[in-house]
Amino acid sequence: DFNDAAQHIFPNLTRENVGHHLPTLVPELKPYLSTENISKLNPLSIQKGDAVLFYEARKIPIKNKQNKKIGIAVYLREFTEHYKLLQKLQEHAEKDWLTGIWNRRKWMNLAKTELKRAKRYGRPLTIAYLDIDHFKLVNDSLGHEGGDTVLIHLVKNISSQLRANDIFGRIGGEEFVILFPELDKENAQNVTQRLLNTVSQEEILAYDQKLKVTISIGATVWEGEDSKVSLEELIQKADKALYMSKAAGRNQATFI
Ligand code: GH3
Ligand code: MG
Ligand code: MG
Repeated sequence: DFNDAAQHIFPNLTRENVGHHLPTLVPELKPYLSTENISKLNPLSIQKGDAVLFYEARKIPIKNKQNKKIGIAVYLREFTEHYKLLQKLQEHAEKDWLTGIWNRRKWMNLAKTELKRAKRYGRPLTIAYLDIDHFKLVNDSLGHEGGDTVLIHLVKNISSQLRANDIFGRIGGEEFVILFPELDKENAQNVTQRLLNTVSQEEILAYDQKLKVTISIGATVWEGEDSKVSLEELIQKADKALYMSKAAGRNQATFI
Protein backbone atom coordinates (compact mmCIF):
# COMPACT_ATOMS: atom_id res chain seq x y z
CA ASP A 1 0.00 0.00 0.00
CA PHE A 2 1.06 3.63 -0.33
CA ASN A 3 -0.33 7.08 0.19
CA ASP A 4 -0.75 9.93 -2.30
CA ALA A 5 2.45 11.63 -1.17
CA ALA A 6 4.43 8.45 -1.93
CA GLN A 7 2.83 8.20 -5.37
CA HIS A 8 3.87 11.78 -5.97
CA ILE A 9 7.50 10.82 -5.40
CA PHE A 10 7.35 7.49 -7.27
CA PRO A 11 4.87 7.64 -10.19
CA ASN A 12 5.25 3.86 -10.60
CA LEU A 13 3.19 3.39 -7.46
CA THR A 14 -0.26 2.88 -8.95
CA ARG A 15 -3.24 0.84 -7.76
CA GLU A 16 -2.71 -1.57 -10.69
CA ASN A 17 0.84 -2.26 -9.50
CA VAL A 18 -0.12 -3.25 -5.97
CA GLY A 19 1.13 -6.78 -5.35
CA HIS A 20 4.21 -6.38 -7.50
CA HIS A 21 7.74 -6.73 -6.16
CA LEU A 22 8.52 -3.30 -4.67
CA PRO A 23 12.30 -3.21 -5.32
CA THR A 24 11.63 -3.90 -8.99
CA LEU A 25 8.88 -1.35 -9.18
CA VAL A 26 10.85 1.37 -7.35
CA PRO A 27 14.57 0.53 -7.67
CA GLU A 28 15.49 3.69 -5.73
CA LEU A 29 14.14 2.02 -2.60
CA LYS A 30 16.17 -1.15 -3.00
CA PRO A 31 19.05 -0.30 -0.62
CA TYR A 32 16.61 0.84 2.07
CA LEU A 33 14.64 -2.39 1.84
CA SER A 34 17.61 -4.73 1.88
CA THR A 35 19.71 -3.03 4.60
CA GLU A 36 18.93 -3.69 8.24
CA ASN A 37 20.29 -0.44 9.73
CA ILE A 38 19.45 2.24 7.20
CA SER A 39 20.62 5.16 9.33
CA LYS A 40 24.11 4.66 7.86
CA LEU A 41 22.90 4.94 4.25
CA ASN A 42 23.00 8.14 2.29
CA PRO A 43 19.65 9.87 2.06
CA LEU A 44 17.44 9.02 -0.87
CA SER A 45 17.98 11.52 -3.67
CA ILE A 46 15.43 12.12 -6.40
CA GLN A 47 15.90 14.28 -9.47
CA LYS A 48 12.98 16.71 -9.83
CA GLY A 49 13.45 18.82 -12.97
CA ASP A 50 16.67 20.75 -12.43
CA ALA A 51 16.76 20.15 -8.71
CA VAL A 52 17.69 17.19 -6.57
CA LEU A 53 15.49 16.50 -3.56
CA PHE A 54 16.79 14.61 -0.55
CA TYR A 55 14.67 12.33 1.61
CA GLU A 56 15.37 10.92 5.01
CA ALA A 57 14.18 7.30 5.17
CA ARG A 58 12.89 5.36 8.18
CA LYS A 59 11.72 1.79 8.36
CA ILE A 60 8.96 0.89 10.75
CA PRO A 61 7.98 -2.74 11.36
CA ILE A 62 4.31 -3.59 10.94
CA LYS A 63 3.12 -6.16 13.47
CA ASN A 64 -0.09 -8.13 13.79
CA LYS A 65 -2.13 -8.55 16.97
CA GLN A 66 0.13 -11.41 18.08
CA ASN A 67 3.05 -8.98 17.82
CA LYS A 68 4.48 -10.90 14.89
CA LYS A 69 6.27 -8.87 12.24
CA ILE A 70 4.27 -9.09 9.03
CA GLY A 71 5.85 -6.33 7.02
CA ILE A 72 7.53 -2.96 7.04
CA ALA A 73 6.48 0.59 6.34
CA VAL A 74 8.99 2.89 4.69
CA TYR A 75 8.56 6.44 5.82
CA LEU A 76 10.17 9.22 3.76
CA ARG A 77 10.55 12.83 4.76
CA GLU A 78 11.89 15.44 2.40
CA PHE A 79 14.69 17.43 4.09
CA THR A 80 16.62 18.94 1.17
CA GLU A 81 17.49 22.30 2.75
CA HIS A 82 18.44 20.69 6.04
CA TYR A 83 20.64 18.10 4.30
CA LYS A 84 22.46 20.68 2.18
CA LEU A 85 23.19 22.62 5.33
CA LEU A 86 24.48 19.47 7.01
CA GLN A 87 26.79 18.80 4.08
CA LYS A 88 28.12 22.34 4.24
CA LEU A 89 28.73 22.05 7.96
CA GLN A 90 30.59 18.80 7.47
CA GLU A 91 32.72 20.34 4.75
CA HIS A 92 33.57 23.28 6.98
CA ALA A 93 34.50 20.91 9.79
CA GLU A 94 36.83 18.81 7.62
CA LYS A 95 38.25 21.04 4.91
CA ASP A 96 40.57 23.99 5.05
CA TRP A 97 38.49 27.02 4.08
CA LEU A 98 41.20 28.63 1.92
CA THR A 99 42.66 25.76 -0.09
CA GLY A 100 39.95 23.10 0.13
CA ILE A 101 42.30 20.32 1.28
CA TRP A 102 41.88 18.50 4.63
CA ASN A 103 42.26 20.58 7.75
CA ARG A 104 44.54 19.53 10.56
CA ARG A 105 41.97 17.59 12.57
CA LYS A 106 40.56 15.63 9.65
CA TRP A 107 44.05 14.94 8.30
CA MET A 108 45.08 13.51 11.68
CA ASN A 109 42.03 11.22 11.69
CA LEU A 110 42.61 10.00 8.15
CA ALA A 111 46.32 9.53 8.77
CA LYS A 112 45.67 7.54 11.96
CA THR A 113 43.38 5.20 10.07
CA GLU A 114 45.96 4.80 7.31
CA LEU A 115 48.77 4.07 9.79
CA LYS A 116 46.60 1.38 11.40
CA ARG A 117 45.99 -0.17 8.00
CA ALA A 118 49.70 -0.08 7.13
CA LYS A 119 50.55 -1.78 10.45
CA ARG A 120 47.91 -4.46 9.96
CA TYR A 121 49.20 -5.40 6.52
CA GLY A 122 52.88 -4.59 7.14
CA ARG A 123 52.93 -2.04 4.34
CA PRO A 124 55.23 1.02 4.15
CA LEU A 125 54.13 4.63 4.19
CA THR A 126 55.80 8.03 3.99
CA ILE A 127 54.91 11.22 5.81
CA ALA A 128 56.20 14.50 4.39
CA TYR A 129 56.04 17.86 6.12
CA LEU A 130 56.17 20.88 3.77
CA ASP A 131 56.86 24.52 4.63
CA ILE A 132 57.10 27.40 2.16
CA ASP A 133 60.51 29.07 2.05
CA HIS A 134 60.64 32.73 3.11
CA PHE A 135 56.91 33.10 2.92
CA LYS A 136 57.10 36.21 5.06
CA LEU A 137 58.79 37.94 2.12
CA VAL A 138 55.86 36.96 -0.15
CA ASN A 139 53.42 38.51 2.31
CA ASP A 140 55.63 41.57 2.63
CA SER A 141 55.65 42.18 -1.11
CA LEU A 142 52.09 41.09 -2.04
CA GLY A 143 50.20 41.63 1.20
CA HIS A 144 48.39 38.92 3.14
CA GLU A 145 45.72 38.42 0.47
CA GLY A 146 48.37 38.06 -2.21
CA GLY A 147 50.02 35.51 0.05
CA ASP A 148 46.71 33.66 0.25
CA THR A 149 46.53 33.55 -3.56
CA VAL A 150 49.99 32.00 -3.61
CA LEU A 151 48.85 29.38 -1.09
CA ILE A 152 45.87 28.46 -3.27
CA HIS A 153 48.03 28.09 -6.41
CA LEU A 154 50.66 26.12 -4.58
CA VAL A 155 48.13 23.64 -3.21
CA LYS A 156 46.61 23.16 -6.68
CA ASN A 157 50.03 22.59 -8.12
CA ILE A 158 51.03 20.05 -5.49
CA SER A 159 47.64 18.30 -5.67
CA SER A 160 48.14 17.76 -9.39
CA GLN A 161 51.19 15.64 -8.52
CA LEU A 162 49.44 13.44 -5.99
CA ARG A 163 47.54 10.19 -6.29
CA ALA A 164 43.97 9.76 -5.17
CA ASN A 165 45.07 7.80 -2.07
CA ASP A 166 47.60 10.36 -0.88
CA ILE A 167 46.32 12.35 2.08
CA PHE A 168 47.10 16.06 1.78
CA GLY A 169 46.36 18.47 4.61
CA ARG A 170 47.04 22.03 5.68
CA ILE A 171 48.40 21.69 9.17
CA GLY A 172 49.36 25.32 9.80
CA GLY A 173 49.35 28.67 8.00
CA GLU A 174 51.90 27.81 5.32
CA GLU A 175 52.69 24.32 6.49
CA PHE A 176 51.35 21.15 4.89
CA VAL A 177 51.56 17.44 5.43
CA ILE A 178 51.17 14.60 2.99
CA LEU A 179 50.78 10.95 3.88
CA PHE A 180 51.75 8.68 1.00
CA PRO A 181 50.42 5.15 1.49
CA GLU A 182 52.62 2.35 0.12
CA LEU A 183 55.55 4.68 -0.53
CA ASP A 184 58.92 3.19 0.50
CA LYS A 185 62.20 5.04 0.92
CA GLU A 186 63.50 4.68 -2.62
CA ASN A 187 60.33 5.93 -4.24
CA ALA A 188 59.75 8.57 -1.57
CA GLN A 189 62.97 10.30 -2.56
CA ASN A 190 61.82 10.49 -6.16
CA VAL A 191 58.39 11.77 -5.22
CA THR A 192 59.65 14.52 -2.90
CA GLN A 193 62.21 15.60 -5.50
CA ARG A 194 59.44 15.81 -8.08
CA LEU A 195 57.38 17.98 -5.71
CA LEU A 196 60.32 20.32 -5.16
CA ASN A 197 60.83 20.64 -8.93
CA THR A 198 57.17 21.21 -9.69
CA VAL A 199 56.83 23.92 -7.08
CA SER A 200 60.06 25.74 -7.91
CA GLN A 201 59.31 25.76 -11.65
CA GLU A 202 55.73 27.02 -11.42
CA GLU A 203 55.22 30.71 -12.10
CA ILE A 204 52.42 32.00 -9.91
CA LEU A 205 50.40 35.00 -11.01
CA ALA A 206 49.21 37.14 -8.11
CA TYR A 207 48.06 40.74 -8.68
CA ASP A 208 49.70 40.94 -12.12
CA GLN A 209 52.96 39.91 -10.56
CA LYS A 210 54.66 36.69 -11.53
CA LEU A 211 56.62 34.99 -8.85
CA LYS A 212 58.12 31.66 -7.94
CA VAL A 213 58.32 30.08 -4.54
CA THR A 214 60.16 27.09 -3.17
CA ILE A 215 59.32 24.71 -0.37
CA SER A 216 61.36 22.69 2.06
CA ILE A 217 60.41 19.14 2.91
CA GLY A 218 61.07 16.94 5.90
CA ALA A 219 60.05 13.34 5.52
CA THR A 220 60.09 10.06 7.28
CA VAL A 221 59.42 6.59 5.91
CA TRP A 222 57.78 3.92 7.97
CA GLU A 223 58.88 0.59 6.52
CA GLY A 224 56.67 -1.56 8.69
CA GLU A 225 59.41 -2.40 11.20
CA ASP A 226 58.22 -0.81 14.46
CA SER A 227 54.58 -1.56 15.11
CA LYS A 228 54.45 0.62 18.23
CA VAL A 229 55.23 3.89 16.47
CA SER A 230 52.52 6.55 16.78
CA LEU A 231 51.42 9.09 14.19
CA GLU A 232 52.60 11.88 16.48
CA GLU A 233 56.11 10.39 16.57
CA LEU A 234 56.23 10.15 12.78
CA ILE A 235 55.11 13.78 12.43
CA GLN A 236 57.73 14.86 14.95
CA LYS A 237 60.40 13.09 12.92
CA ALA A 238 59.23 14.72 9.69
CA ASP A 239 59.17 18.10 11.43
CA LYS A 240 62.73 17.60 12.64
CA ALA A 241 63.81 16.65 9.11
CA LEU A 242 62.12 19.80 7.80
CA TYR A 243 64.17 21.88 10.19
CA MET A 244 67.30 20.24 8.74
CA SER A 245 66.23 21.09 5.18
CA LYS A 246 65.77 24.73 6.21
CA ALA A 247 69.14 24.85 7.93
CA ALA A 248 70.85 23.28 4.91
CA GLY A 249 69.64 26.05 2.61
CA ARG A 250 65.93 25.29 1.79
CA ASN A 251 64.35 23.97 -1.44
CA GLN A 252 65.35 20.45 -0.51
CA ALA A 253 64.08 17.33 1.17
CA THR A 254 65.61 15.59 4.16
CA PHE A 255 64.69 12.09 5.34
CA ILE A 256 65.12 10.78 8.86
P1 GH3 B 1 61.15 29.86 6.32
O1 GH3 B 1 61.83 29.69 5.02
O2 GH3 B 1 62.09 29.72 7.46
O3 GH3 B 1 59.97 28.95 6.48
O4 GH3 B 1 60.64 31.35 6.34
P2 GH3 B 1 59.18 31.89 6.43
O5 GH3 B 1 59.20 33.33 6.14
O6 GH3 B 1 58.27 31.08 5.59
O7 GH3 B 1 58.93 31.66 7.95
P3 GH3 B 1 57.80 30.91 8.69
O8 GH3 B 1 57.56 29.61 8.03
O9 GH3 B 1 58.15 30.88 10.14
O10 GH3 B 1 56.66 31.98 8.52
C1 GH3 B 1 55.38 31.74 8.20
C2 GH3 B 1 54.79 33.00 7.66
O11 GH3 B 1 53.64 32.63 6.90
C3 GH3 B 1 54.30 33.92 8.73
C4 GH3 B 1 52.93 34.31 8.34
O12 GH3 B 1 52.86 35.69 8.10
C5 GH3 B 1 52.66 33.61 7.05
N1 GH3 B 1 51.36 32.95 7.05
C6 GH3 B 1 50.95 31.98 7.86
N2 GH3 B 1 49.66 31.63 7.56
C7 GH3 B 1 49.28 32.38 6.51
C8 GH3 B 1 48.07 32.49 5.74
O13 GH3 B 1 47.07 31.81 5.96
N3 GH3 B 1 48.05 33.42 4.73
C9 GH3 B 1 49.14 34.19 4.46
N4 GH3 B 1 49.05 35.05 3.45
N5 GH3 B 1 50.27 34.12 5.18
C10 GH3 B 1 50.35 33.23 6.19
MG1 MG C 1 56.29 27.90 8.80
MG1 MG D 1 57.91 29.05 5.86
